[in-house]
This record gives sequence, structure tokens and C-alpha cells, in this order.
Amino acid sequence: MNFIDLQKQLEQITPNGNTLRKNINLRIQDVINKGKFILGPEVENLEKVLANYVGVSECIAVSSGTDALLISLMALNIGPGDEVITTSFSFISTAEAIVLTGAKPVFIDIDKDTYNIDPSKIKTALSNSTKAIIAVSLYGQPADFESINNVAKEHGLFVIEDGAQSFGSMQNNKLSCGLCDIGTTSFFPSKPFGGYGDGGACFTNDTKLAQKIRMISRHGQIKRYSHELIGLNGRLDTLQAAILLAKFEIFEKEVKLRQKVGQNYNKILNRVLKNIEPPKIKNGNTSVYAQYTVEVNNREEVQQLMLDKGIPTAVHYPSILPGQKAFEKIIDKQIEEFPIALEKSNKVLSLPMHPYIELEEQELVVSSLLKSSNKF
Ligand SMILES: *Cc1c(COP(=O)(O)O)cnc(C)c1O
Repeated sequence: MNFIDLQKQLEQITPNGNTLRKNINLRIQDVINKGKFILGPEVENLEKVLANYVGVSECIAVSSGTDALLISLMALNIGPGDEVITTSFSFISTAEAIVLTGAKPVFIDIDKDTYNIDPSKIKTALSNSTKAIIAVSLYGQPADFESINNVAKEHGLFVIEDGAQSFGSMQNNKLSCGLCDIGTTSFFPSKPFGGYGDGGACFTNDTKLAQKIRMISRHGQIKRYSHELIGLNGRLDTLQAAILLAKFEIFEKEVKLRQKVGQNYNKILNRVLKNIEPPKIKNGNTSVYAQYTVEVNNREEVQQLMLDKGIPTAVHYPSILPGQKAFEKIIDKQIEEFPIALEKSNKVLSLPMHPYIELEEQELVVSSLLKSSNKF
């Protein structure tokens, strides 16, 4: 069994009757024939398609999800002396991007049900230096942007959604990446909307901000060899844009399949397991289940027992951000100050999850989970 299955995805039939594999090959050949490898028409085309999908006016395709965060912070003039409030439980990029600008990440604990930042903790983390909040929509479910936007408005802060795992999910009928000042996502291959390499995007309704993000992602250039700002090489490759355009044709179908798979796991868990609960999705939210994550005790042993049965699992994430050595000299907090994140980091276990997993496979995963976890 595969944890995710990108090979099965290639054999899917697309709206024009071809397999995805064929359409991707055709598009790649087309880019090679035309030779516009840097900022070819496919990049702008992808930006239009994705902005339209998310329901915002602007999309800027960039080199990765990490760069999308960094470039967004740079465009908001965040730098040395500034503080950015963010979650203690995420992939490293979220906080790494803050440090790269010279600003300081101020970590807060998470909500025990959604694993996303607990908005009620934002106020205690505020200082005169606070400029922005980065909330992550972890495992595919949007953070509580209604509350986050309210606090931000009250204190004049920018809000960024790190939507690397949540592209395609919704909050109150609005799509992830369109829920606050800037939404960012990642096209890393295993993400819900993944390409075949690194890539990412920024989304906003602010035209001026979008212009600045675009400039920064292209060496601060307004026209060739005229550099108004310090930027970086943060462009998305034309080839990657072409692949993503092909994949977008089945993306909305895949979002539905992901939700179906999530619901199937919920049903099976509710039926057979009383001691392990399905992930909780808050009212008004949908999830794309970038990960289908449950909690177990004796995680390492459970993982090994499941692996012995041929079932791969993963841990997102085994340590909390404030405990990473990389932040040792930057923050002055102890990991005990994030009790919920800390507890979750010891218990979370992600199960095999992709749009094409079969119901029988899901039954197998859960029965193996039951047998393995009951041993402890
Ligand atoms: C994957 C991920 C990123 C980074 O994306 P890259 O494209 O790999 O740079 C950032 N934040 C979160 C929450 C992620 O899951």
C-alpha cells in the first residue's frame, strides 16, 4: 500500500478524454518546442486559472511554498525589529520565512481539536513590535480566520494564511487562500495540489500588494535590468506551470474524492474503534485532508506493527517548532509553554491518504490500526 499514489493519478481520464499522463506529456513537449522556459505563457495562464478558482483578483506563481511566505512577508515590509505571531505546530517553513526576513517569530499554542492556532492566545502574544500573524491551515482544514481577522483588525496587523496543505478546502463557502490579506500555497508533489517539483503561489485581492509580490519574486524588477526593490529569484518554472495546468483539470474532482475518502475513514473509525477518534472538522469548514491524522499512544510501536502489515504511516510533526534547535538563539520560550502542541506532537499519526485509495484498503488500514493500538 502507498501512503500517497501519484502513479494512479496519472491514469485518470481528464475532460478531453485523454489520460492525465498523456496531457502532461503533450504540455511538456509543447513547452520544450516553444522554448520559453522562464515565465512562459503557461505561468500567467496558471495564475489566471488559480485566481479565478480561489475567487481573488490576484495570483502570483512562485518557486515554492516557503518562498511564497518569504516573499509575502517581504512585500509587507516585515523585517528586523518586527514580530510575527505564528503557530507552534507546523512544518519549519512557516517560522523559517519569518526569521529569514530578520523578524522574530512569536509562537503560540494550538487548538486541541483542529491543531490550528488558538485565536484566543493571540492577544497575550501581542507587543508594540507585532506586525502580522501567519496562521497555518494544518492537515487541510482552514484555521479560524474569522477570529484571527478580527483580532488583526483591532490591532492593525496583517494576516497571512499558510495554505500549503489546504488548497481546495473552504471556510464559510470561501476557498482557502482567499480568507485573509494574503494566502500562500505549495505545489510540492505530495500536497493536495502538487506538481512534479517545487512551486508555490501567493493570493490576494490587493492589486498594489500583488504588484510588489510579483516584483520581489523577480529580482525586484519592474522592467528588464531595472530593479526597484531587493528581491530574489522566486519564479515558478514554465514546465511546472504546464504540469499544474494539466493537473488542475482533475483537481476539483480530486477534492471531492479526498473528502469522500475522509468521510469513509470517519465512518470506519466510528464503527470499529471507540478509543481512536476521527479528526474534528469545525462547523463551516471543509478539509482536503492533506493528511488524515489520528492520535495514538505508543506511536512508534503502533507504526512498526502497522508497517509489518505493509501499511505505511507518517508523523506530521514529531517535534514542535519552538523546540527546534534552529530557533534556539532566536526565541526565549520553553517547549512546556506549548502544552497542547507538545502533547499532539507525541501522539499524531497520519494514515495513507490520497484520492484513489480503495475502500477495502481503508478498512485494512483501520483494522490494522485497531489491532496495533489495542496492544498498548
Ligand atoms: C509543505 C509546506 C510548506 C513549504 O512548502 P514548500 O513548497 O515545500 O516550500 C510550508 N508550510 C506548510 C504548512 C507545509 O506543509
